[in-house]
Amino acid sequence: MKRIGFIGLGIMGAPMARNLLKAGYALAVHDIVSEKVRALADAGAQAAGSAREAAARSDVVITMLPNSPEVRQAVLGPDGVLEGARPGTILVDMSSIAPLASRRIAEEVSRKGVVMLDAPVSGGEPKAIEGKLAIMVGGPTEAFEQVRPILAVMGSAVTHVGGIGSGNVAKLANQIIVALNIAAMSEAMVLATKAGVSAEKVYQAIRGGLAASAVLEAKMPLVLKGNFRPGFRIELHIKDLLNALDTAHAVGVPLPLSSAVTEILQALKIDGKGADDHGGIIQFYERLARTEVRHAGP
Ligand code: NAD
Repeated sequence: MKRIGFIGLGIMGAPMARNLLKAGYALAVHDIVSEKVRALADAGAQAAGSAREAAARSDVVITMLPNSPEVRQAVLGPDGVLEGARPGTILVDMSSIAPLASRRIAEEVSRKGVVMLDAPVSGGEPKAIEGKLAIMVGGPTEAFEQVRPILAVMGSAVTHVGGIGSGNVAKLANQIIVALNIAAMSEAMVLATKAGVSAEKVYQAIRGGLAASAVLEAKMPLVLKGNFRPGFRIELHIKDLLNALDTAHAVGVPLPLSSAVTEILQALKIDGKGADDHGGIIQFYERLARTEVRHAGP
C-alpha cells in the first residue's frame, strides 16, 4: 500500500485525510497551523514538521491548499515537497488553482523526476466527509492509474479529463456553473419573497421541475435558516472566478455572467462577508431589495 503525505488540513483536507486513514493508508500530515496537524495525529496520522518531511516519508503527496501561490510555496519553496521527494514520487494537487500554474509547477517538479496530477474536487465539506467528492484529474494516464485507488477513497466520481491542467479547467467550468446557479436562485427567491410568496413554498414547488439543481438542494435549506457558515467561503469563490476570467482572457473567451457575479462576490467581501459560505450571495440581493428570505414557520 502506498504511503501518503497530506499537506493542507483545512475544511476539505482534514476530512479527506481522515478518510484515507480509515481506509488503512499510512499518512504523514502537514499544515502551517500546528493544531490542525495535532488533530490528525490524534486520529492516527504521523505529524510532519514541514512539507519536505511529509514528502520524504511518502510515495504519493497530496496537497489541498487555497490557491496557486500557496501550492507553489508548499511544493517549490524552502522545506517544500520537492526537497523531500524522490524520482518517481507522484504529486497530486487537489487544490483548485489556475490551470497555467498547474502546468508550470508540473514542469518544475518533473526536473527531479516527480510526476504531477492536478485533481481538484467538487462537492464541498459534506461530500469530503462522506468520501463522495467529484474528482477531475489532469496529467499522465500512468500516474492517474497508480493513484486511482487512493482517489476512490475520497471520491465517488473520479474522471481523468486529459493532460496536466485539464482537471483545473474542468473545475473552473464547475465553479462558473455553481456561482451563476446560486446567484440565479438568490435573485429568484428574493423576488418571490418581496412579491409576497413564501420562498420555502416556491422551493417545494419548483424542485421537481426543470429549475431543480444540486445547488438548490444544497443551498436553499441553509438560506431559509440564515445559515451562512462555510462550507465554501465567498473569498475562495472570488479566487476561482478570477482564475476563470484570467484563463478565459488568455484563450479569448468573454465571460459576461461570470464577471458580473465576481463583482457581486467582491461587494459582499467589502461588506465583511468574505468568510461566509457562498450561499450567502443571497445577502447581496436581500440588501438591494430590502427583503429577507427566511423560513416563515416556527
Ligand atoms: P481552507 O482554507 O479551509 O484550508 C487550507 C489549508 O491550507 C489551511 O488549513 C491552511 O492553514 C493550509 N495552508 C495554507 N498555506 C499552507 C502552506 N504553505 N503549507 C501548508 N499548509 C498551508 O480551504 P478549503 O476550504 O479546505 O479549500 C482548499 C482547496 O479546495 C481550495 O483550493 C478550495 O478552492 C478547494 N475547494 C474547497 C471546497 C469547499 O467547499 N471548502 C470545495 C471544493 C474545492
